[in-house]
Amino acid sequence: MFTSTNPATGQQISTHEELTAAQIEEKLDKAATAYQQWRTSSLEERSALLNRLADQYESQKDRLATMATQEMGKTYASSVAEVQKCAAAFRYYAEHGPAMLEPENIELSNGNKALAQWLPQGPVLAVMPWNFPFWQAVRFLAPTIMAGNVGLLKHASIVQGVGALMEEMVLAADGPEGLFQNLAIKSGAVADIIADERIVAVTLTGSEGAGMAVAEQAGRHLKKVVLELGGSDPFIVMPSADLDDAVSKAVTGRIQNTGQSCICAKRLIVHADIHDAFLEKYSEAMKAVTTGDPMDANTDMGPLSSFEQRDTVLSQLESAKKAGATLLFGGEALPGDGAFMSPGILVNVPPSSDLMAEEIFGPVMMAFKVADIDEAIKLANDIPFGLGSSVWTTEPAEQERFIRDIEAGMTAVNQIVASSPEAPFGGIKRSGHGRELGPYGLHEFMNLKTVLLP
Ligand code: NDP
Repeated sequence: MFTSTNPATGQQISTHEELTAAQIEEKLDKAATAYQQWRTSSLEERSALLNRLADQYESQKDRLATMATQEMGKTYASSVAEVQKCAAAFRYYAEHGPAMLEPENIELSNGNKALAQWLPQGPVLAVMPWNFPFWQAVRFLAPTIMAGNVGLLKHASIVQGVGALMEEMVLAADGPEGLFQNLAIKSGAVADIIADERIVAVTLTGSEGAGMAVAEQAGRHLKKVVLELGGSDPFIVMPSADLDDAVSKAVTGRIQNTGQSCICAKRLIVHADIHDAFLEKYSEAMKAVTTGDPMDANTDMGPLSSFEQRDTVLSQLESAKKAGATLLFGGEALPGDGAFMSPGILVNVPPSSDLMAEEIFGPVMMAFKVADIDEAIKLANDIPFGLGSSVWTTEPAEQERFIRDIEAGMTAVNQIVASSPEAPFGGIKRSGHGRELGPYGLHEFMNLKTVLLP
């Protein structure tokens, strides 16, 4: 049995039955059967389904957004924005997907002709987290439908209500039975599903630990895996930057989703010439963040997704303090029934502390002072992760250096990192491999067949 608890109130809101082994078997069979039909569907049919799904998400927006907020605490306004972004992703693949699947003509040196043709491969398993409970899964689902594959979702235990709603939406949009199924299972059941011969590949968004477990199993069975793991993204501010804009975006970048995003700005790296002035403004702005009822439109930040998640962050801060770091303010559990905590800033984090190899999935920024761009880049790269990075400078030469030298899957110039349906999303190093979204995400789980023509 799964229990969904509203982290803003600590109240249990629903329970969900865990699937039995026989039910899992039934769903795998259904997926395999659905694939045999869907693989031959026309691209027009796939686009039409994606558009109908977008309609569903738009018309059911309030219901979907309420479920996300109640299950994991994000503000209602951000849940609505997330649902709308999902609708946009469905429409993006509906409109542009067919062109991405056009076969490519190849002239061979012997004078013959060949084609590189995109074909589907089969049922794909997605293991997804709770932080953007619709969006994380939709960036798998939308390309899966366009590819002609079918999908099975193992959603995080705390957002089983969202998982069930996502399956309901596909059926309400007249998607065929078995095209997309929510598997109400615990993580212990994942390995056998990856091993099952009906599953062709697996994608996971989540922690390094979960990524390693899934990749190990996929490797053992020689199945392709895409991993979108954690990050500890740098937010670098150089003297030429618009400081007020950078301050405001560094706040949003850190507290969005109560700090629980893989692409949150987690390490503020500021040039010495502006460091003190910047930190003063930034401290004021972080202290002004309003924390409270996520359903209230005036709230900037809701609770953490669960009491366990808050405990994790608090214990990371305690270890950092023991290692010599200083909490300037905040970073504390707030009294009351919910899993709330205050935003904070951590300075003097020693390079050797565990925190430099971890991500803080909560609203506390680590701040550092650097003498020049070389030191900024060195510090930015001196972590095991390589997901996103945000760099603030109006100097073209500095922008080029950051783009060339920061070890990350994404570099945002004078803005915070954000995903969009059109652009590739993913990381390097221990942030994972493979890409989601854009044509790249569509092609990840497809068979690029070489056709040698007579
Ligand atoms: P997890 O990585 O444990 O959860 C993500 C998904 O993986 C969930 O569906 C989870 O299922 C599943 N999972 C966990 N372990 C395994 C396993 N061994 N085999 C198969 N599936 C597994 O994240 P947590 O919720 O525990 O959060 C811990 C930390 O992970 C956070 O503090 C944050 O640092 C990071 N994280 C990163 C995210 C990102 O966007 N990159 C998103 C969420 C977390 P179940 O819920 O049932 O355990």
